[in-house]
Amino acid sequence: SKKKNFALIGASGYIAPRHMRAIKETGHELLVALDPYDGIGIIDSNFAEADFFTEFECFASFIDQWHRDKKQSIEYITIASPNYLHSSHIRFALLNGAHAICEKPLVLNPKEIDELLAIEAQRGKRVYTILQLRLHDSIIALKNKITKELEKNPSKVYDIDLTYLTSRGKWYFASWKGDEAKSGGIASNIGVHFFDMLSWIFGDVEENIVHVKQADTNAGFIKLSHANVRWFLSVNYNYIPDEVKATGKRTFRSIKVDSEEFEFSDGFADLHTISYKDILNGGGFGLEDARNSINIVSEIRSLTPLGLQGDYHPFCK
Ligand code: NAD
Repeated sequence: SKKKNFALIGASGYIAPRHMRAIKETGHELLVALDPYDGIGIIDSNFAEADFFTEFECFASFIDQWHRDKKQSIEYITIASPNYLHSSHIRFALLNGAHAICEKPLVLNPKEIDELLAIEAQRGKRVYTILQLRLHDSIIALKNKITKELEKNPSKVYDIDLTYLTSRGKWYFASWKGDEAKSGGIASNIGVHFFDMLSWIFGDVEENIVHVKQADTNAGFIKLSHANVRWFLSVNYNYIPDEVKATGKRTFRSIKVDSEEFEFSDGFADLHTISYKDILNGGGFGLEDARNSINIVSEIRSLTPLGLQGDYHPFCK
């Protein structure tokens, strides 16, 4: 199939190289990249010929002029910028005749989903988001198992404990990620993966309660059509269980479904390339797919924590 042209926004950040690799591994071309930070030497190992700009205006001019000169489109604009800029960057992509492939969380608030749906319809270009857990083998297996069980027993409600610990150093709270206005806070920035996965498997949200809301640790209870979920999310290393610390790991992800442990700490490495394959083959996850999880995290941001009362996760103290 024909080589497609990509542009990349937020090209010097942590996750950008995975997008570069995904574009390369799917056989396509990165034409141009934008990032106000110029530490982007890594681009040479993937697309040494790509243009690069540190100023948005110059990047936008390049894209416009490229369209005029070449009479060809830039098919996809990938967005790996800070979360609060996603909807502006998606608009830019759609208004310039490109599909957008945007990192999670797709946007910070549900209203932006509606605004982007209108532009999508008007421009005939699509918005895709990276929800790579939906492409993780063990999570697909869990979804298949639950779907089968629910066919036999449609009123079943599972009891779930979800623990999602992914330690971050001091830099986290010095960066945009530690600024709630820019990242949405840790439930939005990190928790969105598991809120998406849970609502994808266990259905729509009926109740959303927050017990603990600290900058580095959030915990709560969420009632889905088919699950009562006690969840605990932290970027604080102190919560990592000792036996995990002893292995040198700084992350721990666990779901207990009706007390049965379901481990999914591994298998995350090449999910960006798998996401791109899915999008390029006519699949992918769009604005409506993101709606449940964006609703959940946006609501968590506005909720007042209840403290330790009701059905809270056992890690809360
Ligand atoms: P990062 O801070 O390392 O990178 C963000 C980059 O955006 C930086 O290089 C920054 O200079 C650049 N930037 C800032 N303002 C910009 C602007 N106005 N225009 C263009 N670029 C701008 O952060 P990151 O960890 O790479 O995260 C980027 C995105 O990827 C976030 O949305 C994050 O939530 C997401 N992410 C997803 C995963 C995943 O597993 N899917 C993992 C990490 C991050």
